[in-house]
Amino acid sequence: MCCATTFRNWQRYSCGRRGKVERGGKHYCGIHDPAKKEAKRVAMTARINRIGRRNDAERAVRDARDILIARICSDVHCGMSCISDGTRDAVAGFTRARNMLLTLEGEP
Ligand SMILES: [Zn+2]
Repeated sequence: MCCATTFRNWQRYSCGRRGKVERGGKHYCGIHDPAKKEAKRVAMTARINRIGRRNDAERAVRDARDILIARICSDVHCGMSCISDGTRDAVAGFTRARNMLLTLEGEP
């Protein structure tokens, strides 16, 4: 029998379902299997981290875009006679940030 306890109406009950697996000498049903719970926790953590990386990458693209726009504007103000090194760097930065985001979007 499953050794886990549950709460119902503010009271503690033993699960009582048929034990399906044994972990460290204790029996658990399919719902309370600690290995299953751990797998769920790991999957959730991975998902949260993935979302975090994507948010960071999206922010990096926005920042790089803003820098690029600012550089282009300053070049335009000096008569567009030349593309400054700052603009070249900004284009490279934007491309890097965008490629990083595209890589993350390819993740499942
Ligand atoms: Zn159980």
